[in-house]
Amino acid sequence: MHKVLVTGGAGFIGSHFVRRLLRSTEVSRVTVLDALTYAGHIENLGEAFLDPRLEFVHGNILDRALVDSLMARHTAVVHFAAESHVDRSLSAAGDFLMTNVLGTQTLAASAGRHGIEKFVHVSTDEVYGSIAQGSAREDDPLRPGVPYAAAKASSDLVALSHFQTYGLPVCVTRSSNNYGPHQFPEKVIPLFITRLIKGEKVTLHGQGEHVRNGLHVEDNCAGVELVLREGKPGEIYNLADGTDLTGRELTAKLLALCGADWDSVLHVPDRQANDLRYAHRRRRLHHQSPRRW
Ligand code: NAD
Repeated sequence: MHKVLVTGGAGFIGSHFVRRLLRSTEVSRVTVLDALTYAGHIENLGEAFLDPRLEFVHGNILDRALVDSLMARHTAVVHFAAESHVDRSLSAAGDFLMTNVLGTQTLAASAGRHGIEKFVHVSTDEVYGSIAQGSAREDDPLRPGVPYAAAKASSDLVALSHFQTYGLPVCVTRSSNNYGPHQFPEKVIPLFITRLIKGEKVTLHGQGEHVRNGLHVEDNCAGVELVLREGKPGEIYNLADGTDLTGRELTAKLLALCGADWDSVLHVPDRQANDLRYAHRRRRLHHQSPRRW
């Protein structure tokens, strides 16, 4: 039976993952370690919070003593906790480095000390930087353009160094932009929807030419779970969907869904840093039977 420590499990993606994990009869314990920043909410866990196999720990991944005490009781780690919003990273990069880089180091070092059997580090395709054409492969160079992406790229390297140096069974997932229920309304899709249904205006940066891939949060969680079960230590897994949209195309869809028109859109100058296009080759993951962990 597996005992899984999930960091950031009260956040958007982490809470979906926790609910998913608790559907497995092979999992005897799920512990959520979450600092409950502005982005973390216990309510995101819904009924999972009442599951007797779930323990919620309010704490920081930088707290080495706490992390050590939890690690000793688990067999696997899925690491979602991070500062995750690009715009905030433009003015508070230090917080991103602390949580995303040093936090990952604290967890990975502790996981090594406690013989963790699988450590899944959850990352983003933004580490590849802007891709003008084609799509990034897992072994492509990292060219992060914004502080958030730089902190995530650094954390990927930190996590993988624990595989190279100490043999910690680390896998890294890199997904595109997630969307779905419980996303904090600072990210574009929930932000636009909540504004449009209140009759407020939304802002489109530059010409709206920036291309992003949208991945439903449940699809990302399915990929992360598969990597937890079957991922090969030391490997990186790109996770994406087929839906590439420019900012303008996404705005048009959301306007139509919310019954609004282009009068609701304010055109503003582009952001200080805005990568033109993210794209990575989609990895085909096949379920194998019986499933291994
Ligand atoms: P989120 O901001 O919704 O949730 C982050 C969670 O981490 C929150 O619950 C927060 O309280 C917690 N947290 C933050 N700092 C902490 C700390 N020091 N100690 C303990 N907990 C802390 O983020 P999300 O959108 O759910 O993203 C989860 C992970 O997936 C992140 O690592 C992010 O980089 C990655 N990711 C997100 C997306 C996306 O589109 N949202 C895409 C690719 C990768």
